[in-house]
Amino acid sequence: MTTYNFCAGPAMLPVEVMAQAQQEFVNWQGQGCSVMELSHRSKPFIKVAAEAEQDLRDLLAIPTNYKVLFMHGGGRGQFSAVPLNLLKAGQSADYFVSGAWSSAAVEEGTKFGQIQAQDIRVKNADGNRSLLSPADWQINSAAAYAHFCPNETVDGLEFSTLPQTSVPLVADLSSTILSRPLDVSRYGLIYAGAQKNIGPSGLTVAIVREDLLPAPNSAIPAVLDYRLAAENDSMFNTPPTYAWYLAGLVFKWLKAQGGVAAMAKLNQQKAQTLYQFIDQSDFYRNDVDTAYRSWMNVPFFLADERLNDLFVTEAEQHGLLALKGHRMVGGMRASIYNAMPLAGVQTLVSFMQEFERVHG
Ligand code: PMP
Repeated sequence: MTTYNFCAGPAMLPVEVMAQAQQEFVNWQGQGCSVMELSHRSKPFIKVAAEAEQDLRDLLAIPTNYKVLFMHGGGRGQFSAVPLNLLKAGQSADYFVSGAWSSAAVEEGTKFGQIQAQDIRVKNADGNRSLLSPADWQINSAAAYAHFCPNETVDGLEFSTLPQTSVPLVADLSSTILSRPLDVSRYGLIYAGAQKNIGPSGLTVAIVREDLLPAPNSAIPAVLDYRLAAENDSMFNTPPTYAWYLAGLVFKWLKAQGGVAAMAKLNQQKAQTLYQFIDQSDFYRNDVDTAYRSWMNVPFFLADERLNDLFVTEAEQHGLLALKGHRMVGGMRASIYNAMPLAGVQTLVSFMQEFERVHG
């Protein structure tokens, strides 16, 4: 039985990448040891690291005035790093709250500086969850930056339009980076924990415009300091080398698939397949405004919540893993990142159809 893993993160990685990593595991490129056993300062590893960076630059067409940093600390590490690096004394930053993760960014950021949070969640007349369009956000022109989360992993809301402002935009793209094309030049800073669309957890990618790097010798914890990371090719301290190597394999896999444009087509098709099925059914329901539905994380509910446990159990028996919804939201959630093939979504829909036929 083929299994499909719908976990929100750490999420499934491309099967081809896993097979290659397995094949190279003990003896990487004839070195007589694993890539994870090499010094990060060795020539072979520096080549792996540089190639991964270049492939990511190619995939996202990252302009040359942006540094690509491979850091520790996950998305939450960046919740601290962003104000520590970008918010100077006497300044404030605007944070737009669209769900659980942008809200957590506010909570953490508030420890390090003055933050103005605006809740952009709205309820439509039909009761569906929606957002205030970025075109209508009120951004303080004196703010150091405007922070937001374009894909809320827990809530299942996504947007790809940006506000018009000269204030640097800072985006938490943890759960949507590389899922579709992105105009990096519109942002001051992009960051993403790796464990969804990039690779295993333990690695965090930050893409920062050079003029936003902090001043030298700032009082920032060294492992979160963007300048130190940039000046040391992300090797000020020992980076998560194996995660970096795996991310590199994922980037090569993405290129072979046709890059982010091809991914966008596939991701849209996957999301449409699932949402269309949910919408035509009275047995299942998704309550997100169609304009803001996530391509990556699809929360859905059974009309009869008493069937939730049975749904999860039977899904697992059919090889469909990790569909239980986030504890804050309940119901189900299917995370369908880049590595999830269309066949996985089609198998899920077939299962849902059959479950409805039997229990509906
Ligand atoms: N931001 C977003 C959008 C996320 O989905 C997550 C984790 N799921 C985080 C931040 C936090 O990431 P981490 O657990 O790596 O700190």
